[in-house]
Amino acid sequence: MKQLQGKVCLVTGGTRGIGRAIALSMAEAGADIAFNYERSSEKAEEICHEVTALGVRCRAFAVNVTSVEEVNRMVQEVNDSLGPISIVINNAGITRDRTFLKMTKEQWDEVMHVNLDGVFNVTHAALPFMINLGWGRIINISSFVGLTGNFGQTNYAVTKGGINSFTMALARETARKGITVNSVAPGFIATDMTKEVPPSVLDQVRAMTPVGRLGNPEEVADAVAFLASPRAGYITGQVLSVNGGIYM
Ligand code: NAD
Repeated sequence: MKQLQGKVCLVTGGTRGIGRAIALSMAEAGADIAFNYERSSEKAEEICHEVTALGVRCRAFAVNVTSVEEVNRMVQEVNDSLGPISIVINNAGITRDRTFLKMTKEQWDEVMHVNLDGVFNVTHAALPFMINLGWGRIINISSFVGLTGNFGQTNYAVTKGGINSFTMALARETARKGITVNSVAPGFIATDMTKEVPPSVLDQVRAMTPVGRLGNPEEVADAVAFLASPRAGYITGQVLSVNGGIYM
């Protein structure tokens, strides 16, 4: 029997990059998958095909994680169609990079809303189902930026540092309910998000990364799959870096 057979996993931002790789690796481990998408229903259908080809069920939802109503509706519909969610992967995230004085309040707020309110909304909606089951896994995708800061990313750094603190605090509340809460903090991973980074900066990143390259989404997804598995039951409140040893 596969490690996550019979479990229902919700991945936010599952249509591309790290979220897509997580959806596929959780499906490989036997979990039924629900994910949300923002824009392309075609892309969502494509991912659902890839997921169901692995022998599990899949549902995709056009949901913005900043909307409490949309998130609550999605979580209820997942429960009705696939069963109670026992694994949440808070992956959806955005950047709006500017040096601090050039950053507008809108750019600050937008990143807070998606990266922090999104985590609140999804976790708040799904946690009662895990408490009922007496088993759960919450895995939050933060970033090395939440641990070190980064030039031009004060807004993003606040959210990723906040996600790490949220992880440590919620882990204490849920530990005796059979629910672990952990963060995975990726370094530079080759996705649409890093496509926006100028090539000269990526050269510097490779030079600063002991492994000498960017990571790939599957390497992050492997760490998530381990933390979601029954083998990781004694790991909670942790931030696991998947960053090629990068130091800044
Ligand atoms: P990406 O831009 O390819 O994917 C982000 C996903 O989030 C997309 O599926 C998008 O639709 C979804 N999303 C964005 N706003 C949303 C909203 N309001 N509602 C619902 N969904 C929304 O980025 P990625 O590189 O795959 O990043 C995934 C996560 O990993 C993010 O949280 C990001 O901060 C984090 N991360 C990425 C890197 C990297 O180098 N790529 C490094 C560290 C951390």
